[in-house]
Amino acid sequence: MTKVALVTGASRGIGRATALLLAQRGYAVGVNYQQDEAAAEQVVAQIRAQGGQAQTLRANIAEEEQVVAMFAALDSSLGPIGALVNNAGILFQQAGIEQLTAERINKVFATNVTGYFLCCREAVKRMALRHGGQGGAIVNVSSAAARLGAAGEYVDYAASKGAVDTLTTGLALEVAAQGIRVNSVRPGFIYTDMHASGGEPGRVDRVKTAVPMQRGGQPEEVAEAVAWLLSDAASYVTGCFIDAAGGR
Ligand code: NAD
Repeated sequence: MTKVALVTGASRGIGRATALLLAQRGYAVGVNYQQDEAAAEQVVAQIRAQGGQAQTLRANIAEEEQVVAMFAALDSSLGPIGALVNNAGILFQQAGIEQLTAERINKVFATNVTGYFLCCREAVKRMALRHGGQGGAIVNVSSAAARLGAAGEYVDYAASKGAVDTLTTGLALEVAAQGIRVNSVRPGFIYTDMHASGGEPGRVDRVKTAVPMQRGGQPEEVAEAVAWLLSDAASYVTGCFIDAAGGR
């Protein structure tokens, strides 16, 4: 039976690369997007052109009703979910603690933490053996910043990713007996538009010398780690973290 995966924030960057890779590996893929419908449709078109199955799903993951509706739409379009990639995230411009406002901190946490929780909840409801599900796998895309703190740059973002890692640890324990595995991938500096929307387009090139491998990563290199954690090859791996950060 075809496995169904949902990837949040899949219209570009790491989410897009992950959606395309999962489709190549035989998953039917729900391509979540918030605003950029045309880009999401392109991802779906590319998957279908290669003989795969995919469906765009619009939702702001920070909004509970929209998340609930998205999972219902996934059920009726592609079928029962077996894999969730919590990937949609936001990063604001670099700022020290004295510049951080409650509005900014709440926005970061609404997407990066509440959004991940809501999607986990809806996925677990469907995957759990006790609900008649078949089990499944969840990967939370965290960040190297969760370990490193991002001092003076975006400690709000780093703290939100720390919360993601704690969610991974706790939820992995909570749902292990229900046949659901939960893991995190922590990317380092990856070439995507996130840095541009965070205010510094050339950031990865500026900071790449701080990476032991002396280069930024490509979204596809993160997608490989996500796909492995979702796969049956990782069937005894849960509550774990893979750092895709060039040794940083
Ligand atoms: P990106 O900005 O290119 O893509 C993020 C996507 O998420 C966008 O399509 C955006 O529209 C979507 N999104 C944001 N808020 C959303 C919401 N509330 N609801 C639905 N969709 C929403 O960024 P990326 O670099 O591909 O980041 C993907 C993930 O990887 C994020 O969780 C990010 O924190 C993490 N990450 C990225 C890097 C990096 O260097 N690029 C490093 C570490 C971690």
